[in-house]
Amino acid sequence: MIHDCQQKVITVVRLGQGLNSAEVDNTLFLANQVQRSFHFELHNEVLPLADTYKLPNGGYELCEAAKSLLRSRKYNKLPRPLILLSSVPFGEYEHAQEPGWFFFYSQDDYDPQVSIISTQPLEILPKMRTLQHYLLMMLATDILSRYADLVYHQEMHGCLFDYCDELKDAENCFRVGRLCDECERQLQNKIRRSQVSLDRVAAAIRLFNRAVGRKYCFVVMPFRDELQEVYEIIRQSLMELGWDVKRADEVTFPRLITNLILKEIIISDLVVADLTGHNPNVFFEVGMTQVIGNDLLLMITQGEEIPFDIKNERNYPGRLKVPMQSVTLLNV
Ligand SMILES: [Zn+2]
Repeated sequence: MIHDCQQKVITVVRLGQGLNSAEVDNTLFLANQVQRSFHFELHNEVLPLADTYKLPNGGYELCEAAKSLLRSRKYNKLPRPLILLSSVPFGEYEHAQEPGWFFFYSQDDYDPQVSIISTQPLEILPKMRTLQHYLLMMLATDILSRYADLVYHQEMHGCLFDYCDELKDAENCFRVGRLCDECERQLQNKIRRSQVSLDRVAAAIRLFNRAVGRKYCFVVMPFRDELQEVYEIIRQSLMELGWDVKRADEVTFPRLITNLILKEIIISDLVVADLTGHNPNVFFEVGMTQVIGNDLLLMITQGEEIPFDIKNERNYPGRLKVPMQSVTLLNV
């Protein structure tokens, strides 16, 4: 399953005071720009958080508060899926006496369509991590948890799904900025078995990349020795500017090559395609990039003819405004 045609609307509602609504709204606007599989919508009402849910360690029983509110006549019609967003520490009754014993994310046992995010870890993250970064990261977590059943693991890899026993470990997820090998493997298996659609996974990864400031370029070209140098030039140039760069043969799981390449194209901020030799795989990948609408930069060895169908590629709206002739001149 490549994609679910219908865009999924996820409602976000604030639970308790303390969150800047403009900042939340701006972040959700950005989240909707970064990907198209989900539309995050901020509910304009703030749900009240009563002091009766406050625990001795300063946390709040957010699960209990959510359960009670969402059963009430006033709020039981809030659309699902629903994310409750709160600035208070997310505590639990069983650990009410333990200082600092807080969650920061949970799906509600009472209603699996409801999840709760606490923004409290922001207080211990470095100042450069803003609500926007944190929230984009947690939206990515929510999507992968909700639709791909990824779960938190005790092993600490700097992965999005590190359990983060100590809240300061959350910074590690920002620093590393990618899923661990095991989470990647699980995702690939679920994509292969059509347990999750590729575009939803890609949407989550795009949100995650945006959260950690990662820009990603995917390079498609024939795997020929003489083009290795071209790839190295692209890779070095972009890496110096802080980009991550990958080529199709660096993607693992060779049996899933088409799906994986499509995933890489969807999550990329830029696709560079070398048309040298008129390789059919490269044209296929150029076509996929055009359909998705990501930025695309075309190259070809000097002297080779640019195929008719993509000669006017530079005229596509939203593409890099680089005349094709000026980017075809890598002499190899
Ligand atoms: Zn992981």
